[in-house]
Amino acid sequence: MLPFLKSPPSRVFIVLALGFISLVAGTLAIGKTATDSGLADAVSRNARNWAQYMVANVTDLEPIALGERPSPASMAFFEGAKRSGQVFRYEIYSPAGYSQFVMDRDRIALVDGPEFNPDAARAGKTGQPILEAMDGTGPEFPSYFGRAYIPVTVDGRPIAIVAASIDATEQRAIADKALSQVFITLFLLMAISGGVPGLALYFRTKQKQQADRRIRFLAHHDALTGLANRAQLIDELTAALAGLAANGDGLAVHFLDIDHFKGVNDNLGHDGGDFLLQTIAERLRAATRPGDVVSRLGGDEFVLMQTGVSSKEQVEEFTHRLTSAIAQPIRFKEQEIIATVSVGVALAPADGTTPERLLKSADLALYKSKSDGRNCVRFFTPDMDVELLKRITLERAIRDAVAHDGFELHFQPLFEVSNRRLLGFEALLRLRGADGVFIPPMTLIPIAEEIRLIDRISAWVLKEACRTAATWPDHLTVAVNLSPSQFATGSISELVATTLGETGLAAHRLELEITETLLLGNSVATLAELAKLKAMGVVIVMDDFGTGYSSLSYLWRFPFDKIKIDRSFVQGLGESGRNAETVIKTIIALGRELDMNVIVEGVETAKQAAFLDAADGDQVQGFYFGHPVPASEVAAEILAHRPRRDEGVVPGLTRAK
Ligand code: C2E
Ligand code: CA
Ligand code: CA
Repeated sequence: MLPFLKSPPSRVFIVLALGFISLVAGTLAIGKTATDSGLADAVSRNARNWAQYMVANVTDLEPIALGERPSPASMAFFEGAKRSGQVFRYEIYSPAGYSQFVMDRDRIALVDGPEFNPDAARAGKTGQPILEAMDGTGPEFPSYFGRAYIPVTVDGRPIAIVAASIDATEQRAIADKALSQVFITLFLLMAISGGVPGLALYFRTKQKQQADRRIRFLAHHDALTGLANRAQLIDELTAALAGLAANGDGLAVHFLDIDHFKGVNDNLGHDGGDFLLQTIAERLRAATRPGDVVSRLGGDEFVLMQTGVSSKEQVEEFTHRLTSAIAQPIRFKEQEIIATVSVGVALAPADGTTPERLLKSADLALYKSKSDGRNCVRFFTPDMDVELLKRITLERAIRDAVAHDGFELHFQPLFEVSNRRLLGFEALLRLRGADGVFIPPMTLIPIAEEIRLIDRISAWVLKEACRTAATWPDHLTVAVNLSPSQFATGSISELVATTLGETGLAAHRLELEITETLLLGNSVATLAELAKLKAMGVVIVMDDFGTGYSSLSYLWRFPFDKIKIDRSFVQGLGESGRNAETVIKTIIALGRELDMNVIVEGVETAKQAAFLDAADGDQVQGFYFGHPVPASEVAAEILAHRPRRDEGVVPGLTRAK
């Protein structure tokens, strides 16, 4: 095939042009046939008229047809006819079709040896005129002429056949000229009506092909960075894995996720986010060798396929190169961004021999890298599969519990240190796993936060705790743990007010425990919510005090009612070289100064309890004093710690619902 025919737009154009040409040619042919037949008709009829004219003027036709000379009158007629110019030949035939007389441009004569003419004979035989028009051949004929054979009868008896031939060259020329003008007009019209849209179609097709090429590219590449996309990566992985056995080398899949990418987007806008992604894409590309594949799976996730891997050290060295390339500062509109990534690495064939399995292994390793604090590299290990399965099971258990009211609350008692009086209970979330064993809240709550179910769970805890506490004697309190996310979404003070209203619990009987992380952001809105709660009469407790950050500073930020010293301090009591004792004593003294109650939790032994007595702590909580128990066992707990009459308080006990 001609090379240009291979290019589809030219093919389309050629097809169009051929179509156009055949259309014009077809029209031309039809037009010519129509003109030809019209012309032939007119010309032969003209010949017939001339023949009839002869019949009307030559009175001695019969004798002439028998071979006699025409009369002088007839000769005069023929002379005149000859000069007229249009008839170039008159002939007279015998009824059988033999020519007897001819008049043409240079003679008027009888025919020497009569010649048979089949057309004339046929006209004589049928009694019908024969009309024809044709192109002349040879010097004696004009280039186009018409001829008519007319049988002449007298009383039904044929006496002669006369023939007139007329020169129609000029008419033919006029008709041809007219026809060609029509054709030219037609051609132009068609060229305009067909050619313009044809050209438009040509360019459109060309455009469409460019778009198709772009779509094909995009189907395999990421639009923002031009890197391979997931489909392309899978293709490349499949091909590379198929070649593994042959060359003996391995390959590595690096799964990268930009740390805190959302923050970049929030702070620098989407332009900034896009710029970061493009820059990282560029750096990854620059770090690779031919045969490696860099892809973006969407969002801030990149996957890099490293080929020709012969050792784990080589992969580690490569990952190091990648992460340090990414960590170079990036300038965006006068701002400097320093990006870090979490990386999960899987090796083939060890960690998978299909693209899906390898990607999953690398993803699990990435998950580990993120949960280990981000900005680090983790290689896949088989136990990650087990972790993932656990995680999936947990998520399902949480979703089920939310849907089917599967959570429970346990209540752990709180006592006054000085007289061991029961003050109330802390409500603790419990969820039984499929094996009947409780899933620890410390495992459950972070996942519930991640899958955005924490708010629903927290609302349930609050309501259930208040509802239960409302059945207890009036002097007993209930403490509920709040999660920071409850302050991020919606108004916690409204929820608390509604819940107190619905359950009928007095506000001062509700204690809300928050942790330092809540105050980390130092958000005005959070402090305002806390102030509203306090104004309602709810008790606000700083939980896990001493574990987190510059704890003391938080005490100035909000007038807490209570500080709960983290149980790690109690557990550190008596350990040599640790200053747990001093810390606890200091916090207790500080609480006195700030007019905040201090509660020590996690007291497990008599020795620890004795220390607290000596340290003059306010309140205490721990296994030594009482384990968390289901709501149904709270009544027994209350009875067991019923205050003695001489203390003057005899609380009545309402039955738990
Ligand atoms: P937390 O607020 O510090 O709750 C006290 C935890 O210490 C409870 O663990 C309790 O069972 C445990 N504990 C009590 N006495 C002792 C003791 O003498 N020794 C030891 N080793 N531990 C003791 P639990 O129930 O496993 O809860 C763990 C954490 O989960 C809680 O720590 C709290 O931060 C969170 N949590 C529990 N329930 C909820 C809830 O309803 N909402 C929220 N947001 N968090 C909750
Ligand atoms: Ca607590
Ligand atoms: Ca605590």
